[in-house]
Amino acid sequence: MKIIMLGAPGAGKGTQAQMIAEKYHLPHVSTGDIFRANIKNGTELGREAKGYMDRGVLVPDELTVRILLDRVAQEDCKNGYILDGFPRNIPQAEVLDKELEKLGDKIDVAIDMEVPDESIIKRMMGRRACTACGATYHIENVPPKKEGICDKCGEALILRDDDKEETVKNRLNVYHEQTQPLIDFYTEKGILKTVDGTQDMMDVFKTITDILE
Ligand code: ADP
Ligand code: ADP
Ligand code: ZN
Repeated sequence: MKIIMLGAPGAGKGTQAQMIAEKYHLPHVSTGDIFRANIKNGTELGREAKGYMDRGVLVPDELTVRILLDRVAQEDCKNGYILDGFPRNIPQAEVLDKELEKLGDKIDVAIDMEVPDESIIKRMMGRRACTACGATYHIENVPPKKEGICDKCGEALILRDDDKEETVKNRLNVYHEQTQPLIDFYTEKGILKTVDGTQDMMDVFKTITDILE
């Protein structure tokens, strides 16, 4: 099964993708996580991506598409995957479709998580991320068992550089201008499912598993 998670930054894509990945034994492919891992490891790709990420704008397609296609060509993606944060604009979606078509393949479902902008800012301010394993928490909604420490791997949690209020506003603008058109794109393909992302985390998950089954 090949699944795309759509939604604004902070809509809960990563949170749900991680749960879907565990339940269905599919790899969670997050372009944001790949970029952050590269930044942490000081790679050339990381250096290039960081400037864009810190401003809250998209990393250029040529860079992003290449790392995404490399990732989904790996052995563990053979039986499917969950894309979180890709595609983020129409050209990325078109390249993905074209590459899959060459393999006689396609995306099965695009899940759009709807959360109004007002709630997004609150979610992002309280988000804490693990730089080691990519798990995300929220200081009020989804607190870790031990403050500042990842439940899954024991590493320290951080406030992401791009989760500051000004950058979040930029990212929301980018979302509305460039990413939201994908909702029509996947509706026209007949594979869009809309989920109310303001529900409790486990209720969102139940809605999604009902769609997938
Ligand atoms: P969030 O989960 O909050 O939406 P991400 O981790 O997906 O954030 O993305 C963080 C940043 O990484 C984005 O603001 C953007 O700069 C960059 N990025 C991630 N995925 C893509 C993509 N598909 N295309 C271009 N830039 C991307
Ligand atoms: P995205 O990957 O779409 O950027 P995340 O999964 O990182 O979003 O979630 C953004 C923030 O909101 C995190 O701090 C997360 O813990 C929290 N969160 C996720 N799902 C919910 C939910 N259903 N209700 C409240 N907070 C949530
Ligand atoms: Zn962790």
